[in-house]
Amino acid sequence: MYFVLRKSKTFNLSIKCQLYLFDAMVDPILLYGCEIWGFENCKQIESVHLNFPRKLLPIRKSTHLYMLYGELGRVPLSNSIKCRMVCFGAKVLSGKEQKLSRILYQMLYIEVCTNNSCKKWIKCLESIFNETGFSFYWLTWLSQQAIPPNALKSIMSLTLSDIATHTWNAEITHSSKGITYRIFKTELVLEKYKLVIPFSLAVKFLLFGTSCHHLPIELGRWHNIPVKERTCKLCDMSDVGDEFHFIFVCPYFKPQRKLYVPISYAKNPNILKFKELFNCKKINVIKKLCTFCNVIMKTVKSSM
Ligand SMILES: [Zn+2]
Repeated sequence: MYFVLRKSKTFNLSIKCQLYLFDAMVDPILLYGCEIWGFENCKQIESVHLNFPRKLLPIRKSTHLYMLYGELGRVPLSNSIKCRMVCFGAKVLSGKEQKLSRILYQMLYIEVCTNNSCKKWIKCLESIFNETGFSFYWLTWLSQQAIPPNALKSIMSLTLSDIATHTWNAEITHSSKGITYRIFKTELVLEKYKLVIPFSLAVKFLLFGTSCHHLPIELGRWHNIPVKERTCKLCDMSDVGDEFHFIFVCPYFKPQRKLYVPISYAKNPNILKFKELFNCKKINVIKKLCTFCNVIMKTVKSSM
């Protein structure tokens, strides 16, 4: 992982390329043989997976996990583990009847289903099927025609990715920071702009969206100041110094706003326009917005 990070820095590789390298070079080592040991506690595996984006992006240690996953469009590695475990099970089951692995697998399955004995591996398979809504497949696992492993793989990976997206959305909804983050990020994907515009510029946008800044709304959170009192110190409007205020309202940034925010957004601003602006697909607009975010963060920090 450190080799990938070092080489990426040397050759100034894009985020997409770095993630690809991680998947191609680190994933296979992390997940080697996970079809067998995947039922164990995989927290350490996931922490390595999360350590990579933390090294890749200049974000705070305290940044929420959903932001990490969201910014890079990643899903937990446990998804790959579950998928590989289920496919391995299907592969064993589709083998020849006299094959030892198939006979053992059937014995374990029957033992778990009839005596409810604690065979961790089989139990884990059962829970994956239940979690993904395929309990029927599990209950009729031996009696029906074995599902081709490839077909099962595509069904499982699609369902697990849907579940991950659902969980991601739920985490944002239940987090206090999520209310703001929801404005900047609507989908669990790696946005195109991050691949097109220079990384150093894209990072400013990312820091602004993930609250890795020193705006009064964030500073107040650190000192437990009530939201109403986290006001902007650069103007006398007594408005809460949040992202919306600095992008659209604060008179201090009026000249920069004219320069970096399209007039259609800056005129009669509201939260919908704010969301639209930050989710705009036009690279030129996003590029200017990145610069504006950088100016705001720098100015606010230097005024402290
Ligand atoms: Zn202000």
